[in-house]
Amino acid sequence: MTQYFNYIDAQWTKASSGNVFESRNPANYEELLGQFQASTEADARDALEAAHRAFPMWKKTPMGQRAKILNAAADYLEKNVDQFAEELTREEGKLLSNSKMEIMRSAQTFRFYAVEGTTFTGETYPCDDPGMLVYSQREPLGVVSVITPWNFPISIPARKIAPALITGNTVVFKPSSDTPLIALRLAEALHHAGVPKGVFNFITGSASDIGAELTTNEVVRAITFTGSTRAGERIHQAASLTTRTQMELGGKNPMIVLDDADIDTAVDLTVQGGFALTGQACTGTSRVLITAGAKERYLDALVQRIKSIKIGNGMGAGVEIGPLANQRQLDSVLNYIDIGKTEATHVYGGEHLTGPGFDGGYYVQPAVFTDVTQQMRIAREEIFGPVIAVIDVEDYDDAIAKANDTEFGLSAALITNDIRYIQRFPLEIEAGTVKVNRTTTGNLVNAPFGGLKRSSTSTFRESGRAGLDFYTQIKTVYIGR
Ligand code: NAP
Repeated sequence: MTQYFNYIDAQWTKASSGNVFESRNPANYEELLGQFQASTEADARDALEAAHRAFPMWKKTPMGQRAKILNAAADYLEKNVDQFAEELTREEGKLLSNSKMEIMRSAQTFRFYAVEGTTFTGETYPCDDPGMLVYSQREPLGVVSVITPWNFPISIPARKIAPALITGNTVVFKPSSDTPLIALRLAEALHHAGVPKGVFNFITGSASDIGAELTTNEVVRAITFTGSTRAGERIHQAASLTTRTQMELGGKNPMIVLDDADIDTAVDLTVQGGFALTGQACTGTSRVLITAGAKERYLDALVQRIKSIKIGNGMGAGVEIGPLANQRQLDSVLNYIDIGKTEATHVYGGEHLTGPGFDGGYYVQPAVFTDVTQQMRIAREEIFGPVIAVIDVEDYDDAIAKANDTEFGLSAALITNDIRYIQRFPLEIEAGTVKVNRTTTGNLVNAPFGGLKRSSTSTFRESGRAGLDFYTQIKTVYIGR
């Protein structure tokens, strides 16, 4: 069995504990993908110190040289896309086509920041004193801790690491303990690209062993975290005044369907937004708020569509939904399905799938509940699985009130052709990503991304040009003569 290592100060190293943990295939948990280092606080400290030592050199490294490394890392990902996509599917469970897109998107992100970072500047300011030049300049923060989840285990790290490096910061990257292999491929890409010693460091291990060190050590100037609201809030609250935080967290994303909506479109968007990635997208559709004139037609068509969905191993041809990512996910989703059955009307699905083609994997049939009210847990809590809660609404105004009645604010969609509501929706919905006649899921590499309310710290956006802000601080300079 292959054992993989940490990457600290340009050395592939073992954890000081001497222990390892395993990564397994959620479509067949008998299949072991590799053993990874169960790192300790001391290993995390080593990685942070390496990043701290490398910072003064990297800060002064010409921008063009930094960009060259990002482009070379993108080349490496593209060259190995077939192998890495297969590994991603075997490690996380998503469809092979989605894995390919994710690897290519990670490469695209590196290329995007290799260009965008080189034009990221301060401003000059008009001033009454003709003998004075006033301008702002941007500079890097220092050591950045990058902590990421398993659901987009390479594209989320890419959209943090690329802007951090191009702006002159050094990085310690800790991936989810569920997807260390594909994260390691990103580390490998930077290593092959010639990233200088200490500038980028990769460390695996459980959050309970290394999380506190990576987030509270005094050399850490920024923490960029994507994961659950519970963990993100805890990290944010424990961070010191000198540590900037960016927390991208959970969601309970609504899709509003009005009477005039095309029902086939609404069903397609539910399947794509709620069930693709087995419901494990932070922007996944989990509440459908629907008016009476559309509801029965929508529910009938949705159930018919679910019956035709092919569920199976993400490597298989024609498969539309893969397994859940791990045992915790399976237990949690099945628990929410039980809760749904006690508090709402169960329309369809939710079974744990077993038997030929399913044994050894974490498979669940997509589930639909109706007569869901605002107080129910399946209407309020993030389930992070293929479960749709259908909520009755009287009209657009009622839909907006109910859609906004949540602690989350990540993404939202409206399905209608009525221009009055299309215009009001972006103004009235409380969400960082607002879609009309599209799925709640999906965002562009070149556009800002982030949530409102408890879905994000809302301080800085990720992605796009706005994604560079978090990694720089501004100095204002007054030069007289
Ligand atoms: P998670 O349990 O919060 O873990 C995320 C990452 O944080 C993992 O690497 C985990 O390490 C680490 N971690 C957990 N607690 C920590 C702590 N106290 N200190 C330092 N690190 C800590 O989330 P998950 O189950 O991986 O991901 C699912 C969640 O992510 C969902 O809530 C989803 O909505 C959210 N998400 C949000 C976005 C977004 O952009 N808003 C995107 C994708 C996912 P271990 O693996 O070692 O525990």
